[in-house]
Amino acid sequence: MFCPFCRHPDSRVIDSRTSDDGMSIRRRRQCPECGRRFSTTETASLSVVKRNGVLEPFSREKVVAGVRKACQGRPVTDTDLALLAQRVEEAIRATGASQIDANDIGLAILAPLRELDEVAYLRFASVYQAFESLDDFESAITQLRHEHGDDRLRGSSPTS
Ligand SMILES: [Zn+2]
Repeated sequence: MFCPFCRHPDSRVIDSRTSDDGMSIRRRRQCPECGRRFSTTETASLSVVKRNGVLEPFSREKVVAGVRKACQGRPVTDTDLALLAQRVEEAIRATGASQIDANDIGLAILAPLRELDEVAYLRFASVYQAFESLDDFESAITQLRHEHGDDRLRGSSPTS
């Protein structure tokens, strides 16, 4: 990081502070050459690769917009949706990737949406995974039932 005053190619960090949303770090720096102080903000960028190859910044609003339709008529609040979008972003960032295919965002949405509302999950999955027949719904529902069964087993059996 060049000093903005004398262009000295080095600087010393004297203070670091994470922003309230945790998405960026503000650093207070001092130039060892001229002694002046300045601030920098560092953000880990996350880009979405659209189907046509164009990059755009990841947007939680778009995740919410994509899921909202599947949640119509379900007991899902705007706060739930905002939280879901946050979890999706955190899951993607946790992989360490700086880019993600638009299509893979759908994949990252499935797990938190299933926890939020299973009907909305089935609606979303049916579009995202292009369910073509009742069999597709049936196997998705069977899988949900199966996992509910697992939960009950875990709850009642002290040995597992
Ligand atoms: Zn300087």
